[in-house]
Amino acid sequence: MEAVHAFKQDCFGVDRIWVEFHIAGRLDPIAVHEEADGYKELIAEMERRCEGHRADWWDAAASPAFETNYTMIWRRGGPRPSIQNRAEQLTEHLRCPDGWCLVDPAVREALSRALRREVAAGHPLFGVACTPVMRCQRCDDVLFVCDMAQTPLALVHLTYSGHAEAPPFPSTVLLRSADEWNAKGDFVC
Ligand SMILES: [Zn+2]
Repeated sequence: MEAVHAFKQDCFGVDRIWVEFHIAGRLDPIAVHEEADGYKELIAEMERRCEGHRADWWDAAASPAFETNYTMIWRRGGPRPSIQNRAEQLTEHLRCPDGWCLVDPAVREALSRALRREVAAGHPLFGVACTPVMRCQRCDDVLFVCDMAQTPLALVHLTYSGHAEAPPFPSTVLLRSADEWNAKGDFVC
């Protein structure tokens, strides 16, 4: 097992907590919800085996209401450097194109929240930790650093609708490296 995550699903007004088991060599995680048979035993076993797991994972996934609250319970090898640390490292290597600016720390959380609300299951950024680093001053394009090994950057055209969009929206281009971003010349808005 590589990692265990929890998240919350809003089922017509009733919140349901899901726990996802990420298995090496398997593309899709195995997801179990709290009303499933054997859930309690499975969770007890997970907590027994996953040394150093996040103790308050249930509370973190449960609140605030109406948010997915994707939560890392455990990861093989312990926690990674925070997404914010990695964003700061990566940003040093990013070119700021004409008409773009660095994201002010004061609006970082608002942009992260907008993204979390808009991406639904089936979108490549669903459940992925992301932090905004740069944005276009003319349109709604935002460059996010995200917790994906192969594609650490995502150029997202946010909709600012405040609710989950049907994938593939918000439209997103995943980038493999800072070099790929720096070489990008096709900015149209
Ligand atoms: Zn733009």
